[in-house]
Order: sequence, then structure tokens, then C-alpha cells
Amino acid sequence: MKIHNFNAGPSVLPKEVVIKSAKSVIDFNESGLSLLEISHRSIDFLEIIEKTISLVKRIMNLNDDYAILFLQGGATLQFAMVPYNLMNKQAAYLDTGFWSKNAIKEAKKFGKVKILFSGKNNNYTYISKNYKIPYNVDYFHCTSNNTIVGTQMKIFPKTSIPIICDMSSDIFSRKLNFCQFSLIYASAQKNVSSAGMTIVIVKKDILGKIKRNIPSYMDYKIHIQNNSILNTPNVFSIYTSMLTLEWIEKKGGLSFLEKKNQYKAKLLYNEIDKSNLFENIIHRDDRSNMNVSFFLKEKNLEKEFNKMWKKENIVGLDGHRFLGGYRASIYNALPLESIQFLIEIMKEFDRKFSS
Ligand code: PMP
Repeated sequence: MKIHNFNAGPSVLPKEVVIKSAKSVIDFNESGLSLLEISHRSIDFLEIIEKTISLVKRIMNLNDDYAILFLQGGATLQFAMVPYNLMNKQAAYLDTGFWSKNAIKEAKKFGKVKILFSGKNNNYTYISKNYKIPYNVDYFHCTSNNTIVGTQMKIFPKTSIPIICDMSSDIFSRKLNFCQFSLIYASAQKNVSSAGMTIVIVKKDILGKIKRNIPSYMDYKIHIQNNSILNTPNVFSIYTSMLTLEWIEKKGGLSFLEKKNQYKAKLLYNEIDKSNLFENIIHRDDRSNMNVSFFLKEKNLEKEFNKMWKKENIVGLDGHRFLGGYRASIYNALPLESIQFLIEIMKEFDRKFSS
């Protein structure tokens, strides 16, 4: 049975990745042992970590100035770990939605936060491009893709201040000059792997500049010294990431995925814009190519629409609990056919219920 999986995260992964990672749980590399039963310090697992690091660097075109870490605690831990390691006195943040608000809340525990732009007054439907980064902040933090409302930063500021970016919901979805960032973090459970692992990509020369004492697990430098195995890492999630990254490379890398993702998003936004019943309220330049949010203009039709898509094996289309409406998360592994199928359902609904 074909299921069209629009979940926001954990979410759809490439079928072949799921099959291979499932096989490894039964018998890892024909060793007679499950991946879940091998030591995280075994040669086999060290090879997995090394290979995953090389894949991240190759796909993102990063040199050895950057360290790649696989940590736990989700992007949520990074909200605190970033200021813990990098904030001396003050940092600048963009408030572009729920997740950046959470990042700001944690940062305020370590120093002064300058909010350069807040989308709060327009319900986070647009992202300003006209903010100025002060010269005296320790870093600038932004969220590249706002998973809940469905906005995405298309341009990043040019600045000598270190740029820190939460890429949880659009990492590996498009080609960017990744060297413009000093630190990137992303939870794995959207475009990469299972939940329980966070990829941190950090330019080593930004570390070691603050005075506070940092607990070992919160200290990037200690993780770098220990090659992500300070303690027992999420072996399964790291292995599954390696498989997804191999899949990305085989497909043609980020250039290929970017084109495919743009095409998928365009089809869906076109349908929403054309339809009589649905609407998207995001500023056009800021529409996300990963999370497409939409609403029914007449709320009383929601019951009928829900009945229709649920009957057709579409899952995960409900909007975030804070926002309502609908959200189609259309990550790398979501096939084009799922978009086309959803569009057919929306067209049929339009025909049936437009007056
Ligand atoms: N940042 C963004 C942009 C997210 O979408 C999410 C989760 N959906 C988080 C942070 C939090 O991630 P986690 O639950 O892994 O801590």
C-alpha cells in the first residue's frame, strides 16, 4: 500500500535507506551481530563515523577548518550549547518563529540578546532582509527554515561576525556556500536520519574564546578531541545518516536535490495559489521549499477535506498544533508522485466544494 508521508519530522526517508538500516539491525555487514550490539569503539563503527564525516564535508564542500560532530540532545540542546561556547557578552538573533524564539530564550541565560528582526507582529509570515548586524556582538544566529510556519531564508547576510545557523529542517536540501557559516546545527530527524542525533558543523577557530567553565558534554572542543565518541553516541542514527548521505551523493548531490525540491514546492504553491478554497499566507520571497503551510479559506470545510485526504493514505498533513490549518512537509525523500497525488486531491476538493 502506497502511503504519502507529509510528516514534519520524524519524516520520510529514502526507501532504500530504511531497508538497509533495518537490515543492519538484524545483521550488520554479515557479521552475525546487530548494529545495536556492536561497540561504539569497534573498528567497524569508527569506520562508519569517519565515512559519515567525509560525506558531510564532500557534500557541503567543507575543508578541514571545520569539525563535524554527531551529538545528542537534539537541536534543543544546541540552543544552549551555542551561547555556552560562544557568547562572552552579547549576541544577535533573528526571531523568525517558534524555534528561533526557543533559541533566544536559552541565549538570554548567558548574556544580552539583540533581536535584529522579529516577525512576531506579522505572524512570522515574512523574514526581513534589512537588518544590520552590530560590530560588537559575539555571533549572529538565524534559523534557515522555519518548520512550523513555512518560511525559509533565501539570502544570508555578508558579515565578518560568525554566523550560526539552525538548519534542522533544510540541511542537505539546497546548495549554499556553507563556508559563510561558522557553525551549523541540525537535528537529524527530517532530511537525514532517525531522531536522537544532531549534526554540528563547527569552524574550529571560533572556539576557545570565552572564559566560562563548560561542562564536558556541552563543550564542542571536547567533542572534537574525542571525535564524537566522548560518550556512547547514537550508533543507529549515525549509521542511517551515512546511508542517507550516500544516497544524496548517488542522486547527484545538493545541486540535483535543490532543483528537485524547488520543482516540487513550485507545483504545490501553484496549486494553492490557483485554488478557490486554499490559501498560503507567507510572503512569496520567503516561502519554504521544505514545509508548505496552507489554510482553507472557509474553516467549516476542514472536516470534509480531512475526511478526503485521510481516506487516500495521505499522512501528516495537519498543521502544527500551534497554528492549525495544513502543512505539507516535502523533504528530500518525498517523491514527486506524492506531491502530484496531493495536488489531485486538492483539485478534486476544489471541484466538489467551490461554489
Ligand atoms: N529547530 C528547528 C528549525 C526545528 O524544526 C526543530 C524540530 N522540529 C528544532 C529546532 C528542535 O529539534 P529537536 O526536537 O531535535 O530538539
